[in-house]
Amino acid sequence: MVLVRQTLKRVPSRVPTRMAPGVIVLADNECPYGLLPAVVERIAASTANTSRYPDRCAAQLVEALASHLGVPVDRIAVGAGSSELCSQLVHTVVGPGDEVVFGWRSFDAYPILTLVAGGSPVRVPLLRQGLDLDAMARAVTRRTRLVFVCNPNNPTGTALDARALTTFVDRVPSDVLIVVDEAYREYAAATAVPDALTLLGDRPNVVVVRTFSKAYALAGLRVGYCVGSAAVIAEVRKTQVPFSVGALAQEAAVAALGERDEVARRIGLTLLERERVMSALHDLGYTVPSSHANFLWLPLGAESTAFAEFCLRHGIAVRSFEGEGVRVTVGLAAENSAFLSLATRWRREHPASTP
Ligand SMILES: *Cc1c(COP(=O)(O)O)cnc(C)c1O
Repeated sequence: MVLVRQTLKRVPSRVPTRMAPGVIVLADNECPYGLLPAVVERIAASTANTSRYPDRCAAQLVEALASHLGVPVDRIAVGAGSSELCSQLVHTVVGPGDEVVFGWRSFDAYPILTLVAGGSPVRVPLLRQGLDLDAMARAVTRRTRLVFVCNPNNPTGTALDARALTTFVDRVPSDVLIVVDEAYREYAAATAVPDALTLLGDRPNVVVVRTFSKAYALAGLRVGYCVGSAAVIAEVRKTQVPFSVGALAQEAAVAALGERDEVARRIGLTLLERERVMSALHDLGYTVPSSHANFLWLPLGAESTAFAEFCLRHGIAVRSFEGEGVRVTVGLAAENSAFLSLATRWRREHPASTP
């Protein structure tokens, strides 16, 4: 018998999720508008280079990000999606038995990446669908090495204001790494959600993580980045799996950064659709917190799984969190309308029990 690390017993197995053809997927918070035009061109022009290894430092992409963000190159690390960067950050500071604090529910990768690194996840329950920063600060102990702050929070879509974030960072000891996960930053910018890079970029123990998977529509190519102090970033870079960001991903990300206007146009469409879907759901009697991202959260409690199964039976995949709620990505207008007609039917067939 091979001796396997004990900690993996607590990590759930991966189950394949194969979607039947024709299903409308509103389950993964992807951009519904497809690849950006400049990305299509760049990928087509770059395929011949993929017989060779990519630039392991992704120098061109790091430089493009530096000028996009106005920060020096030595403050930026890239990875195969922001998931790899979250993993790298954990591996940078967390050893066996060290604690990683995060709100719950939040991004499901946090507990998994923590356990894989041998750390102990500390889940702090949400308060009114949002992160309870006060409770999270109190959950930090001498064993805590890292705190994930997901803003806006996935799956609830709620966001923190500048004062709450700054107060929290002031309360956490300076030797604990605070990772602000801004996967939905581009959507949140429209509603004055603070940008952790501007707000807290000068703090040596704060790292901001972002991705090309959402607003930049590159989920399948796997590329993300993080910005922190040069000292932390130098260590984070050491933890990357060599060549994890492929050549096409690097090229595509550089091209995507050049598509400011088209990205902004798509975000505008998504925000309009988000408000349309939200107000229709409110009219149907659903509770839906205001979202600062490209998805909506329906805290359906015990109904959640049945609701998601009902949607899937009728051709729409949404994401259910058993006993808690359902997360629905804002898709194309027609997809959203199809979802709304299912939500209408569901309410007709299952009248809301008044709490
Ligand atoms: C989607 C998402 C990510 C992005 O993951 P990638 O690995 O970059 O595709 C990261 N954090 C949160 C909270 C997300 O919802």
